Amino acid sequence: MLTTFTVLADIAANVGGDHIQVESITKAGAEIHGYEPTPGDVAKASKADLILDNGLNLESWFAQFVEAVDVPHVVVTEGIDVIDIAGDAYAGLPNPHAWMSPANVEIYVENVVRAFGELAPEHADDFAMNAEAYKAELRDIRTELTDALSVLPQNQRALVTCEGAFSYLARDAGLTEVYIWPVNAEQQATPKQMAAVIDFVRANDVPAVFCESTVSDKPMQQVVSATDAVYGGVLYVDSLSEAGGPVPTYLDLIRHDADTIVAALTGGAR
Ligand SMILES: [Zn+2]
Repeated sequence: MLTTFTVLADIAANVGGDHIQVESITKAGAEIHGYEPTPGDVAKASKADLILDNGLNLESWFAQFVEAVDVPHVVVTEGIDVIDIAGDAYAGLPNPHAWMSPANVEIYVENVVRAFGELAPEHADDFAMNAEAYKAELRDIRTELTDALSVLPQNQRALVTCEGAFSYLARDAGLTEVYIWPVNAEQQATPKQMAAVIDFVRANDVPAVFCESTVSDKPMQQVVSATDAVYGGVLYVDSLSEAGGPVPTYLDLIRHDADTIVAALTGGAR
């Protein structure tokens, strides 16, 4: 079976274990919002027995894609308590980055268990067992994350990033989220967006700012130049790294981001 992006592939593989072969359509490091599927993707997908997608408008290319291949698909965010994107052209639309909350990923896991149980009912017990073990790890990492971030003083509890991808993590961790652009598909920083972020960083004495691995950090480096903030490092959201890289799994991704954020905001930045 296929997933639309690498994070989802890893989550699904943890449920499927040895019974389900999981592959991601977009590769590690790819920009996933405005991805353009290749003829090879279409050929591969038409042989799949199931495709899992995130939904919430994450994959703008997916509706057309899945129509072209005529393969059953399941949306894994079913049942999530959705946060809307604030402001601009996206006002009122759901923020798609729900997996940035490990609590939400427990819901992803339940949806995957259901989908796999229909695909391979003979292994349903194993899927449920794998899911329980993985959910325990998700709960551990959530506690780890909120504990680590709880040491931050109130005035440093701001998470300034390129993309507005951290609403769910910010909600879990009690951080104020500020970003240059709402969704990577547009990823040009307008003068108005730049000015708003620079004003916020100056006004709140934000010690560090961040950018995601799948986009250029140039606009954020301009924020660094214009303020007293340092560049706190690369955060991973929309894609895992290759197997040998810093975040080959979802649990690695969350741990990496939490460590990077805490280190930079508490003065441990490079
Ligand atoms: Zn994104």
